[in-house]
Amino acid sequence: MKVKFWGTRGSTPTSGARYVEFGGNTPCLSVELESTRELVVLDAGSGIRELGNAMLADPDGHARVVHLFLTHAHWDHIQGFPFFAPAYHPDYRINVYCSKDAERFLAGQMSPPYFPVGLEAMIGLARFERLDHQKAWSVGDAVLRSIPLPHPQESTGFRLDENDRALVFATDTEHEPPQMNRQLVEFSRGAQLLVYDAQYTPAEYERGKQGWGHSTFAEGARLAREAGVGELILFSHDPSHDDEACREIEKRGQELFAATRAARQGMVITI
Ligand SMILES: [Zn+2]
Repeated sequence: MKVKFWGTRGSTPTSGARYVEFGGNTPCLSVELESTRELVVLDAGSGIRELGNAMLADPDGHARVVHLFLTHAHWDHIQGFPFFAPAYHPDYRINVYCSKDAERFLAGQMSPPYFPVGLEAMIGLARFERLDHQKAWSVGDAVLRSIPLPHPQESTGFRLDENDRALVFATDTEHEPPQMNRQLVEFSRGAQLLVYDAQYTPAEYERGKQGWGHSTFAEGARLAREAGVGELILFSHDPSHDDEACREIEKRGQELFAATRAARQGMVITI
């Protein structure tokens, strides 16, 4: 499978010369599978706008069917959705999955006075599905499973398995020091790629960010080692972390778990 990062930033988009290398768009990943042309998309932060534009610019090179899985309804994970152009196009079928009522909260952010057109303008929207963590979803030969993650209003972790390769997307989650989230360790077991919430440095976390629902590169490294994952991607960069800060976080992460990179907007990883 081929994973592309369209947005890597947590909380709110950033822009400007200090955010060029790691990017300013909020979370969105696309996953191209080997067994089907249908596309899996994880979260609809501001990054999904560029994904949609790329799809429309080259329709034959992209999927017409999208399976969009949302971790939760916090704004930075859904704010790009009203700007996802394929959803307004009759040639596309967009399926939305969430453990919460996505139709309600996506319609809410597109209702007056927040947005000029409503959800009904999205004629490419096919259906909404409520995620059940006991149930797996199939897309082609790929299997997608989910678990709840500790976070204000709760987030969702996703694991996508295809042809003995696995991606785990675990963002907007807080660890509970000193113990580890055993459910997440087992969920991540043996995955080739683990994308993990590293919004804060350990020092920031200790100094006032406990209970805010995010984690650190040090916890990501601990989880990656414990679960035996192939590579750790540090994700959900704090808006206060410019490129220099992200490079430092990446370096410190690599000292704890060598196969570590910080997510960069536009980065593509094939596993
Ligand atoms: Zn959140």
